[in-house]
Amino acid sequence: MDELDRYHDLEGQSSHQGQTESTVPRKTTFLAIAVVLLVVALIGMVIAAVFAVSADGSSKTRPRNLIFVLADGTSPASYTFAREMSNFNSENPSPPLPLDQYFVGHAKTFSADHVVTDSAAGATAYSCTQLTNNEMVAVTPEGRACATLLEAAKKQGFMTGAVTNTRVTHASPASFTAHVPHRDSEQDIASQQTYNFSQSLDLLMGGGKAEFDERDDGVNFIEVLKSDGVKVIYTPDELQDLNTLPAVGLFAESHLDYEIDRMRNTPRTQPSLSEMVAKTLELFQKDGRKFILFIESGRIDQAAHANDPGAHYWEMNQYMKTAQVLEEFVGMNTETAVFFTSDHATGGISTGRRYNNDSYPEYTWFPNVVLRQTQSMAGMTLRLMKGEDLQTVYLEETGIDLENDHPEAYAELTGRTPTDNLQYKSALGFPLTSEAMIGWTTIGHTGVDINTYRMGVDISSIKGVVQNYKIGEILADTMGLVEALEEINEKYKSWTFDLTDISRGIQKMVKYHEDL
Ligand SMILES: [Zn+2]
Repeated sequence: MDELDRYHDLEGQSSHQGQTESTVPRKTTFLAIAVVLLVVALIGMVIAAVFAVSADGSSKTRPRNLIFVLADGTSPASYTFAREMSNFNSENPSPPLPLDQYFVGHAKTFSADHVVTDSAAGATAYSCTQLTNNEMVAVTPEGRACATLLEAAKKQGFMTGAVTNTRVTHASPASFTAHVPHRDSEQDIASQQTYNFSQSLDLLMGGGKAEFDERDDGVNFIEVLKSDGVKVIYTPDELQDLNTLPAVGLFAESHLDYEIDRMRNTPRTQPSLSEMVAKTLELFQKDGRKFILFIESGRIDQAAHANDPGAHYWEMNQYMKTAQVLEEFVGMNTETAVFFTSDHATGGISTGRRYNNDSYPEYTWFPNVVLRQTQSMAGMTLRLMKGEDLQTVYLEETGIDLENDHPEAYAELTGRTPTDNLQYKSALGFPLTSEAMIGWTTIGHTGVDINTYRMGVDISSIKGVVQNYKIGEILADTMGLVEALEEINEKYKSWTFDLTDISRGIQKMVKYHEDL
């Protein structure tokens, strides 16, 4: 019975009962009540849609869109380092980083089986809202595929995307878009991203083209994507012109270049992370549907693995440019929440170090030394591998006279065969690192808590120090994805991997969307 029917019935009833006439005409009174009831009901529906009650009972605003940003391998000291570096040549004595004002707190990063996590378990904690073992990509410690935020989002009618400057098949983006028991199965990840594209993604951008078209199985997955109606692009110009979804951008055979190297190329052969993100937001906005977007600034980590200060800085700089693009977007799209976090810290970078064992250190470090660096240690290593002269390359790209100012390091490096591995690259970076008074403790990850930030709609229950998977849980709850995650996990109960032979589980892949 709608409100108008109710009015007629009540009108007839009251007449029969011979009630006293009100001073306000009865018909008008009932109409007014009906309108009020309707308005109250509508307001209630709007409030229910905008606010969600979380598990702890607190109500919070529900954003329409969510952008989740993972700054891979970024330690709290990376932010200090980047701030002081960008401050060095500035008129302003202490310009903040674009993210400084959005600081929330810290996240603990340990995985299910290691006190220091890797990127697979680190990203899975967020994507599957649970801890798993190192090297596992959206798979539980028991070997079962676990539903990801992007899969749940797609099921709930969100548009979804994943953008990175590493290979799209690398551990972090893979943990949101595929399921393998070991992160090294990147060809399997590419095949899942292809065959399951429509159930988890509208857009995928980054590097890693070779994982799709130079495969051991001989299948060209780029052709498979195209035959499924997905637009595939490879260059910055094609990115500029892109105006349709679904789309995949594969801008490099492997990872995109370090930003410090990418900037050297004229004309530019690859887009920057911020350019990929800006285009993604433009396309999502044009489409108009609600969306959940995963962004990874992935090479901050790799530069820190190589103990390469210049590469680390320019990756942080590009990450901050991406943050500015997002800041501008949420300024105009106020129903969007952006959450920034990291999977772990890498390299153990510090600003200030002991220069040698004989003296007490000066309380300083030298950003200007790092600012002189114009090529990554990886880029210099490749040149040395091709036979270029160490002294010449180092002087050209760092301004440091290796032979005269660092004779010990020069002797050590000339005695080694240039090799594309972290040990060589970190040794190559050591003279610059020590002149800059930058410290590194490892070529691996560290277990320190990492920074979290947020922009846009207040996701107020994320604050202080939280375990990484809790952030995933809160985001899933905030975006209304909990039930969808549970439903997909129910489907995935049969998608288990034989952990003694990681390649066999792939054949049991479950397409949960087949009977949606
Ligand atoms: Zn790493």
